[in-house]
Amino acid sequence: MDRPEPGSPLPATLRDLLANRTTATDDGHLIWTGPMDRTCPYIKAGRTRYAVRRLVLQEHWGRGLFGDVTTSCRIERCIAPDHLLDEVGRHNHDALDVMLAALDQAMPALLAREAAHRAVAA
Ligand SMILES: [Zn+2]
Repeated sequence: MDRPEPGSPLPATLRDLLANRTTATDDGHLIWTGPMDRTCPYIKAGRTRYAVRRLVLQEHWGRGLFGDVTTSCRIERCIAPDHLLDEVGRHNHDALDVMLAALDQAMPALLAREAAHRAVAA
């Protein structure tokens, strides 16, 4: 599938095509109702096929993308920009998970130490 130039705005015709082929759900997903290439939403403009997740994420971030674009919500047809990740996004997502887990683990000791300091100060 073709990849548009990084940072290039979505052509109005494609933007319109996207708007006409999605349904927003109450829980924040944007469901693609257009064609699928196995697990990948795509759109055809003339004779060119575009990977929809890539178009949406590139438009959303305005930067080039790295690697495959996947959904973080695990709904194949979801193309909500906040639910899409490229390789950089997945790396940051994983790193954040590790940091949050470490913070979760350290929190009881941190709270106990703070309580001890307050007791001494009082
Ligand atoms: Zn989603």
